[in-house]
Amino acid sequence: MKTEVLVLGAGMVGVGTALALQQRGHAVTLVDRKMPGLETSYGNAGIVQREAVQPYAFPRDLATLLRVATGRSNDVNYHVNAMWQLLPSLARYWHASAPATYAGIAQAYAKLVEHCISEHRSWIEQAAAGELVRQDGWRQVYRSARAFDAAASAATAVAQRHGLQCAVQGTKELAAAEPALRIPLAGAIHWMDPWSVSDPGELVSRYAKLFILRGGSFVHGDAMRLQQQGAAWSIESEGGRLDAEHAVIALGPWADALTRSLGYRLPLFNKRGYHRHYEGHAGLRLPMLDTAYGAMLAPMSRGLRVTTGAEFARQDAGPTPVQLARAEQSTRELLDLGKPIEASPWLGARPCTVDMKPVLGRAPRHKGLWFNFGHAHQGFTLGPVTGRLLAELIGGETPFIDPSPYLADRFG
Ligand SMILES: Cc1cc2nc3c(=O)[nH]c(=O)nc-3n(C[C@H](O)[C@H](O)[C@H](O)COP(=O)(O)OP(=O)(O)OC[C@H]3O[C@@H](n4cnc5c(N)ncnc54)[C@H](O)[C@@H]3O)c2cc1C
Repeated sequence: MKTEVLVLGAGMVGVGTALALQQRGHAVTLVDRKMPGLETSYGNAGIVQREAVQPYAFPRDLATLLRVATGRSNDVNYHVNAMWQLLPSLARYWHASAPATYAGIAQAYAKLVEHCISEHRSWIEQAAAGELVRQDGWRQVYRSARAFDAAASAATAVAQRHGLQCAVQGTKELAAAEPALRIPLAGAIHWMDPWSVSDPGELVSRYAKLFILRGGSFVHGDAMRLQQQGAAWSIESEGGRLDAEHAVIALGPWADALTRSLGYRLPLFNKRGYHRHYEGHAGLRLPMLDTAYGAMLAPMSRGLRVTTGAEFARQDAGPTPVQLARAEQSTRELLDLGKPIEASPWLGARPCTVDMKPVLGRAPRHKGLWFNFGHAHQGFTLGPVTGRLLAELIGGETPFIDPSPYLADRFG
């Protein structure tokens, strides 16, 4: 079959894009140096975050900034030697998080998140992957009454504004809902709309199998070898040279290397994150964020996956899993946590932009080149949504969401 579109990167975003293009009749080849779903889309907490209508803003209150700067918050860790390089991006992230600017960003973000369940639902049904999915939400839990009260009123307001369902659960209700908890907690926000999966990489792999079953091809190749040859885009893959009219860059945390080599200077940076599995599910019924320690506890088929918040470091710096060590300790207070399953933790990176929105749409200076990356904390949630939107743009259809807030042109 003639390849019309090369999709570079087979994470949730690339696979979501490939499926949506194929559904619209395009001949698509998916290219990755690994098998689908083995990188960031494997290592996340596996939540389809329907509640995430507000992207993670840069903290602007002095108390939080001080806690982060002095290493007293487990939400964030940073390498001092990376800060000089990251400073320009962090300064722009800070500016974008100013209340008036942030309100517009959150509005555009919510427009994408709104569709995450319906888009995943459709692919989950077609890929017959229903057994991987739980449809009963997740919880944010609070250890202090003060933090719980503040979070409860903020969550209720967000839920009302966006038509989301959330239950505010006090100490007893939470203990009844999660009997494995070993100590009483102040309370929980139970977001009921989100879905979660027992193996995020396996869901990507099932989507990729569906794509192949329907005639799509997957090849191993190095995206850095992409070249423009006249009106075509070509790449040397393991199976030989591939030419296509269109190429989509969906390389998650590695997108910057390729876009830079093509002359783009997009304000991208990565927030690293760790996970480790522990024996058994420790009895936990739903994923739970222990907000006091920034630790997400996700029951997975391999065991309980404990994931961490953001680490600011050079992309090639060695692992420094201090947040995970603290998260393990704090989780042992909450649950009867078994032994770690892996010898060492998994390390990955959330691909971020300075204004918290993904970069999606036509590459401003190259005909036939398209972008779909920068999904930060919610790429597992958003892959099928932005995949559909990009497929509609490539095919010249009327897009189901206004794409203008996400175009690369916004960065000049
Ligand atoms: C700890 C943690 C928890 C998270 N939890 C959640 C969550 O619960 N819900 C949620 O929605 N999101 C979550 N995220 C974010 C989410 O995982 C990412 O936004 C998402 O996986 C990004 O998907 P992607 O397809 O853009 O990138 P990836 O999944 O990283 O895919 C990029 C692909 O590009 C390939 N590639 C790279 N370079 C090359 C090359 N040169 N040649 C060929 N191929 C190449 C890689 O092999 C990879 O397959 C979390 C992230 C972390 C780190």
